[in-house]
Amino acid sequence: MAEQLKPRTEIPEELTWDLSAIFETQEGFEAAAEQLPKDVQAFADQFDGKLDSVDTLIAAIKEYESLMAKGSHLGQYGMLPVSVDISDSEAQQQARHVSNVLASFGAGMSFFNSQIQEVDESTLNEVVEKEAQFGPFIREVKAAKKAKLAPEVEKALAQLDPVFEAPSEIFEQARSADADYGTFEVDGEEYELSFVLYEEVYMYHENPKIRRAAYDKFNEVLSKYQNVVATAYYTHLQSEKTLATMRGYDSIFDYLLESQEVDQELYHRQIDMIMNDFAPVMRKFITHLKDVHGLEKMTYADLKVDLDPEYTMPVTIEESKDLVQEALAPLGDEYVSMIMRSYPERWTDFAQNIGKRSGAFCSTTYGKHPYVMVTWTGQLTDAYTLFHELGHAGQGVLSNENNPLTSARPSLYLIEGPSTFNELLLTDYLKNKTDDPRMERSILSKMISRTYFHNFVTHLLEAAYQREVYKLIDAGKSFDAKKLSELKLSVLEQFWGDSVELEAGAELTWMRQIHYYMGLYPYTYSAGLTIATQAFLKIKSGEEKVDGWLEFLALGGQKVPAEATLVAGVDITTDRPLSDTIKYLDESVDRIIELTGELDK
Ligand SMILES: [Zn+2]
Repeated sequence: MAEQLKPRTEIPEELTWDLSAIFETQEGFEAAAEQLPKDVQAFADQFDGKLDSVDTLIAAIKEYESLMAKGSHLGQYGMLPVSVDISDSEAQQQARHVSNVLASFGAGMSFFNSQIQEVDESTLNEVVEKEAQFGPFIREVKAAKKAKLAPEVEKALAQLDPVFEAPSEIFEQARSADADYGTFEVDGEEYELSFVLYEEVYMYHENPKIRRAAYDKFNEVLSKYQNVVATAYYTHLQSEKTLATMRGYDSIFDYLLESQEVDQELYHRQIDMIMNDFAPVMRKFITHLKDVHGLEKMTYADLKVDLDPEYTMPVTIEESKDLVQEALAPLGDEYVSMIMRSYPERWTDFAQNIGKRSGAFCSTTYGKHPYVMVTWTGQLTDAYTLFHELGHAGQGVLSNENNPLTSARPSLYLIEGPSTFNELLLTDYLKNKTDDPRMERSILSKMISRTYFHNFVTHLLEAAYQREVYKLIDAGKSFDAKKLSELKLSVLEQFWGDSVELEAGAELTWMRQIHYYMGLYPYTYSAGLTIATQAFLKIKSGEEKVDGWLEFLALGGQKVPAEATLVAGVDITTDRPLSDTIKYLDESVDRIIELTGELDK
């Protein structure tokens, strides 16, 4: 596969993103990298130890924002090239250079964050009275103030940061560098295996023999590293728990949820309802998948197979423009033309080339247009990926346009809402356009097997397992690899029941995700999609207007999640968004089964 790919230098310009919107020339970038430390020094000269009046504070916040924007422009321009070509040594050198510049930038700016937390409440309140736009930022400052430790302790912790990051790096090294996945054999043919090849290719393979052989080999190799990974993970959780205690939190859950501005009730409800009420829907879907494929049993290795792998829908980049214009039309002309700018302005890197990293992302920086990385292979799934990332881009643009930098970023809890909302619009558009039952079934089943499986199953099961591990830590208990496998297996058993055979290796799923090192991140995928689904259903039924959703996209970090979603008519403090979502999915699965019945006739 890899040998057919072209080197980056042979890729036509129109398939690549245009970084000149950040810096017109390489010289401009280099000059900015040189200027930044001087600006930071000037900032420190002016404000270090002097945040003593309301006016000085306001001036400092404004200057802080301007410097943060400059830092992020350098970061983007410096780092983006490596993501599209890891084999480019110049790009690598540039990325390393920028990361050094940004490290000293962070160190030079850190006085501001710690000193603003020293300012008394009434002065902070006065800042907001004078400049309401800084309200959300001051809200965050006050929250951080509560958990603040003595300055010398904070400084020591900041210096120890690389040590706190070590466990996730040890995990990454074990699974990607040290582990040799070798090859596996099926019917006399040998297949190359790697972590990425398993997760991105073999897991979806339509041949059950290949799927299952890859699975066995993959887990056999993983299992050899289980003790080192469990130890790294335990170290990580111990440091999280220690920090939580030092900062005055009895519960590690409260500590980790603080930055999301979400309480435990929302967190637990999300996991409990999906584990209990959504599980039967997925079991029904997976059993149908088994029947359609004529499998004797559904194993854990089979879960990701497409319902109708032979049915493909090719889409060119040119055609994706029509899809964007038509499928996103419900969001209004202004939104659509904003997203359409992404083509002539080349926000997106579509290329397929040697050294391009896998996956997709959207990177948004203040004051510039977003950048999107996808790898276009010409299938409908690429259009879904593009819609997803452009959903992030749309929120990025609207949030940045309507907020100062310090409050432009929404809570992590909300992040996956706009991206998955656009996926739902694409599904709805394609579904309404066709009267071909096979196409409708393919679209609906992809919605379940990709959009929802990813957000509501894969990551949610990570979250459910992670919650059990954190409970152990909160209770002062320890764990080893065996215990983690037990916990993971019991979560999988609870969700899949008798519908899936959890053959050996399933329990090692806890070794497959970097998310475990990112606090309570995994459950937010389903939270975002729940918000998106509820908003989508309400707009579709006419219960809400699309304006509310657009207003929500422009909110940035102005409001805490429970208040922000209300703007879009979604009350996440109640059961309704999740129960409506689950009902919608249940009906979709029933429709898939009905369509199979029609096709079988
Ligand atoms: Zn996303």
